[in-house]
Amino acid sequence: MARVHNFNPGPAALPAPVLEDVQAELMDYAGYGLSVMEMSHRAPSFMEIYERTEATLRELLHIPDAYDVLFLSGGATLEFAALAMNLMRTGRAGYVVSGHFSKVAMNEGAKYGEALCLATGEDTDFSAIPAKADIDAQVAREAAAGGLDYVHICQNNTIYGTMYQALPDTGDVPLVADVSSCFLSLPLDVERYGVIYAGAQKNAGPAGVTVVICRHDLIADGPALGITPAYLDWRSQAMKQSMLNTPNTFGIYVCGKVFEWVKEMGGLEAMEARNRKKASMLYDVIDHSELFCGVARPADRSIANVTFTTNTPELDREFVSEAAKAGLVGLGGHRLVGGMRASIYNAVPKTSVERLCGLMREFEELHAGTSATE
Ligand SMILES: *Cc1c(COP(=O)(O)O)cnc(C)c1O
Repeated sequence: MARVHNFNPGPAALPAPVLEDVQAELMDYAGYGLSVMEMSHRAPSFMEIYERTEATLRELLHIPDAYDVLFLSGGATLEFAALAMNLMRTGRAGYVVSGHFSKVAMNEGAKYGEALCLATGEDTDFSAIPAKADIDAQVAREAAAGGLDYVHICQNNTIYGTMYQALPDTGDVPLVADVSSCFLSLPLDVERYGVIYAGAQKNAGPAGVTVVICRHDLIADGPALGITPAYLDWRSQAMKQSMLNTPNTFGIYVCGKVFEWVKEMGGLEAMEARNRKKASMLYDVIDHSELFCGVARPADRSIANVTFTTNTPELDREFVSEAAKAGLVGLGGHRLVGGMRASIYNAVPKTSVERLCGLMREFEELHAGTSATE
């Protein structure tokens, strides 16, 4: 059976052992005589899956008891609204705009209160993360001026291939982070955040599950806005173990398998080391190339999404199509950026990255002389 080298940005590659496990259990899960898709979400067989999934995630990320863990639906996109509805108590929050999704999050927040842009990377076409000193200073200024309910960042910018190398210091203001594309790629210090959320389809499981990790005191009084739909009320969801209604049972089950796989692979420190190795192999080719150049500023480079281009759209298209013929799929850049993007999440093996590096070198040799403009 031929499986492709999968560089899709999301939905993305899943670990082969997880898929095999799921396949083996599809007709008869653990002797219950049915699949996970077919059992009640209230059945002890599913509750056991749910509780184990949460426990494994807590273990991987060292999530303190003061934080609730939710497995919801609607993607990161629905959480853009949910976080504002749950947390905008004074009606004023700060956003750092470091790319597409952080801007969408801010625009969504602006529907429910004042969403201040604290800093933006727009002037660099989002090739750089706004300077930490500027963000920190702006947070302090706005917190003193009118107060901030939270500061929102997108920690890894999937489309542009940039990643925060250090978190902003927000003082007493809770830091809320969309970590969709770096969740489980590296350890996170959960206590630095008020809320962390991630769509599972990048690195943690199939599409349709969103993980929300929320410090309980922030939601202990219920959502900030009375109009918050019951489904988006994080406190209710926490009290009901994400089962205010029927959750994505099968998706949660697959996430649990991915968490266990990450644990078996050595946990998040091991994942980070593997991911840094894969990323550095690609950046090394890019930095020594006359044809390809990187999109992100080197100091802000992502270890999950590697963006690059020849600066010639026809050549970029040719590379993506040659790669697909060789079994390397998902390398086309996002329409906002163009060029190429290799998403090298946890389940993308080093051998796939080696294959991509080899192909880049071959392509460059073939096109020697057609060099990039930088
Ligand atoms: C993919 C992605 C989103 C959008 O996620 P959905 O689950 O499709 O809503 C938001 N933020 C980041 C960082 C992403 O990578």
